[in-house]
Amino acid sequence: AAKEEGKNSFHFFNDQMLIDISKALELESALQTALDNEEFCLFLQPKYRLDSGDLDSFEALVRWRHPEKGLIMPNHFIPQMEQGEMIFQLGRWVISHGLNIIRGLERAGLGSYKLAVNLSARQFCDDKLVDHLQACLQDMPGDRLELEITENVLIHNSELAASVMKQANNLGVTVALDDFGTGYSSLSYLRQLPVDVIKLDRSFIAPTNESEESRHIVTSVIDLAHKLNKYVVAEGIETKEHLLFLQEHQCDSAQGFLLSRPIDEDELPDVLAKGDVQQMAKSHLNADVL
Ligand code: C2E
Ligand code: MG
Ligand code: MG
Ligand code: MG
Repeated sequence: AAKEEGKNSFHFFNDQMLIDISKALELESALQTALDNEEFCLFLQPKYRLDSGDLDSFEALVRWRHPEKGLIMPNHFIPQMEQGEMIFQLGRWVISHGLNIIRGLERAGLGSYKLAVNLSARQFCDDKLVDHLQACLQDMPGDRLELEITENVLIHNSELAASVMKQANNLGVTVALDDFGTGYSSLSYLRQLPVDVIKLDRSFIAPTNESEESRHIVTSVIDLAHKLNKYVVAEGIETKEHLLFLQEHQCDSAQGFLLSRPIDEDELPDVLAKGDVQQMAKSHLNADVL
């Protein structure tokens, strides 16, 4: 019995770990295939200006259209891609493909929009990133592109991140601090980095109906952002009350399921041609102050 116990307690490397490793390797090779076969696609979620109600930009959200498993959300594959360099290739694809969509809409007479893309911390180590931005923006003003970065970008290698952000800024590209308020040292980053936009995390928006504290946080962040000459976007707007509260407190833009879910790139031209999505914010906002 002692022998049995000894055997069983020797658990440095067990079957579950072997299964996990082989699953991770399988996912990694499937992801490389997905990159090579262009199995990724973008969903675009509108952002609306609260001073006019206009739809003026789209955030690109990547999905993996798996040939058998269907649509896979980014939290299932971005972390794995960030372990290595696959995230670099994916990130560059999101930028070039996203801007191609924006150009296509413009050519089709469906409007001129800005594109926002998400960059994770690891992507600042991509030494081809800045050249790629420049190449993608040959025929477009740089301010048609925004980089959404999260505060954790700055935990590691913040000098490199700051330098990439400055180079992007020099091309006219704007930078937004995503999920603002959920990371570390938000306030010091606002001083140190070339940030143009604060994107208030949806965890602050959801409780504004019930919680006075949340309302104070939201209005104070808007006020702070404006004093620092920055633009504020609120994400995760799910109710009309959220939207009207933000309008009343001079938030600059809003995004969320109330206004529009992220739209499949393949459906976007038809959706814009119909025209309803452009009217979504106007239909909810207080018209007296538009
Ligand atoms: P994020 O940048 O904060 O993106 C917003 C997420 O919130 C999206 O989820 C969006 O579908 C969701 N969302 C939008 N409006 C609402 C709302 O009103 N209510 C609720 N409950 N959710 C809302 P998604 O597409 O699953 O993306 C999750 C995260 O994955 C993103 O968070 C972003 O950090 C990351 N991600 C997405 N695309 C990319 C990419 O191309 N590159 C990188 N590095 N990360 C990406
Ligand atoms: Mg984002
Ligand atoms: Mg966000
Ligand atoms: Mg968020």
